[in-house]
Amino acid sequence: MKKKIKLAGAYLWSGFNKIRKIFSCSGVYNVPILCYHSVSPENTSSGFRLKPDNFEAQIKFIVSNYNVISLKELVSNMYKKETIKNAVVVTFDDGYKDNFTYAYPIFKKYNCCATIFLTTAFIEKEINLTEENEVLEPLTWAEIIEMKMSKLISFGAHGHTHRMLSNIASNELGDEIKFSKGIIEKKLGENIDLFAYPNGQLRDFSKETITVLKKNGFIAACSTIWSTTNTPKELYYLNRIIVDRDDDINNFKLKVSGAYDYLWFFHNLKRS
Ligand SMILES: [Zn+2]
Repeated sequence: MKKKIKLAGAYLWSGFNKIRKIFSCSGVYNVPILCYHSVSPENTSSGFRLKPDNFEAQIKFIVSNYNVISLKELVSNMYKKETIKNAVVVTFDDGYKDNFTYAYPIFKKYNCCATIFLTTAFIEKEINLTEENEVLEPLTWAEIIEMKMSKLISFGAHGHTHRMLSNIASNELGDEIKFSKGIIEKKLGENIDLFAYPNGQLRDFSKETITVLKKNGFIAACSTIWSTTNTPKELYYLNRIIVDRDDDINNFKLKVSGAYDYLWFFHNLKRS
């Protein structure tokens, strides 16, 4: 869908969304989980790479207007069925070096917490995650450990090779999930129990994937299915809001407010 059509949809939906939030039943968590990938001043054709000043304006806005909590805190509250008001969660996928170079200083400046989902074969430099002919560098383990020590940044698994989990044969699926968890746990010396599906649309994971995640001790998993709300039933396919390069601060505010939540219907139509 073109950007202008999406924006028109957001304006149409935003009024209804305000009413929906007032009447949403208890058990619905109105806590947007933001999904970022990359922050860099370099000019790029890659839609998922935000300019640092744009990213900083967004972090400043959420820190000033919301309670930014960690994904772990949200998940733990969802398990306990405790309510959280006016909160936002920040996540990054893949593990690009610029998360340390450009995003981490902004997280420190605003005392903002975030979770980074690591693709372990990428961090280990066994594979490239190339987008539109650009080769982006991975984080190093030293950078990951430095961010972990700050207690602002926590880590989750994003698969070992970034393959779509629904395309992996049953006999390999366990290893794809286990490797990513095991490598991060060994390097960080802590339990890793949060997961984000590569690509993250409904066709990219299955009931079998969720069974394997549960068997390996994961307590929740993030998709890229669009919504600012989640229920405890969705702990293994948590909806997220993707933020990209073209989001100026006004569009970002619309996304966080839930004005684009109508996209949830389209993402669920794509079920194969
Ligand atoms: Zn990814």
